[in-house]
Amino acid sequence: ATMPPLLSAIANAGRHGVLVKSAVAMERLGEIDATALDKTGTLTEGTPEVTAVRPLPGSGLDEDALLALAASAEHPSEHPLARAVVAAARARDLPLAPAADFTALPGRGVTATVDGRVVTVGRAEPAEAAGGATVVRVTRDGTPVGTLALTDRLRTGAPAATAALTALTGTAPVLLTGDNAHAATRVADATGLTDVRAGLLPEDKVNAVRDLQTAGRKVLFVGDGVNDAPALAAAHAGVAMGRAGSDLALETADAVVVRDELAAVPAVVRLSRTARRLVL
Ligand code: ADP
Ligand code: MG
Repeated sequence: ATMPPLLSAIANAGRHGVLVKSAVAMERLGEIDATALDKTGTLTEGTPEVTAVRPLPGSGLDEDALLALAASAEHPSEHPLARAVVAAARARDLPLAPAADFTALPGRGVTATVDGRVVTVGRAEPAEAAGGATVVRVTRDGTPVGTLALTDRLRTGAPAATAALTALTGTAPVLLTGDNAHAATRVADATGLTDVRAGLLPEDKVNAVRDLQTAGRKVLFVGDGVNDAPALAAAHAGVAMGRAGSDLALETADAVVVRDELAAVPAVVRLSRTARRLVL
């Protein structure tokens, strides 16, 4: 028997390194006419590095003590920022203390008890963010003790992939991120995007997708984090970046980019459109 076009398209998508979960998912990918993209781990590689450690004067901490404290609290987390903080502490051979009562708040940060004191690592105030870096603040027993700056590299294929999505949908992708406006704008400028919404919580990403859909668009959302799962579910079609992607994002998405290239996203939209022309 000849394979039905949507199933052939799923097989072709596999050759492009994209796992599409069903014929219905394959079909929806070709129906989209707008795109919303996450920043960290989607347009960027998702392997940030700590570029500055800044203890607050009066905190009684030096750089190493601040970094060790943050890394101890972040150690149980799988978030890319947490991995970067732990890697930076390891690179300085700093001893980590055990963390108790660990909790992660998606899109916000982590809390843990370290040496009997409550430590948080998470969003900084907008005034603390500058220079295009991601900035996280560390608090101890409710008092800010310093900040860490992190930067992530743009994926080499990001400008071409977003240009292809613009051509396919007739409208430029929107960038939706929980990061600060400086870091978001730096990535948007490098990618050629102008519609940028920064400082978003996971529910704000959902609302941004819903607003576009209420205005009559069929939105493709591309993301990787636990924080992206609600938006992946709300979108007409959701694609997760697989390599650094969280389990929840991979489970929620209609398709997973297994070969870690953003070019696979417009490629799979094209495959779906070709298959749908054959079905109709
Ligand atoms: P994005 O939308 O860019 O993928 P997230 O929604 O995961 O980012 O996170 C948004 C912001 O929340 C981060 O830029 C950071 O300030 C803070 N944050 C989230 N998780 C962590 C963490 N594990 N450690 C420190 N900060 C975090
Ligand atoms: Mg992300």
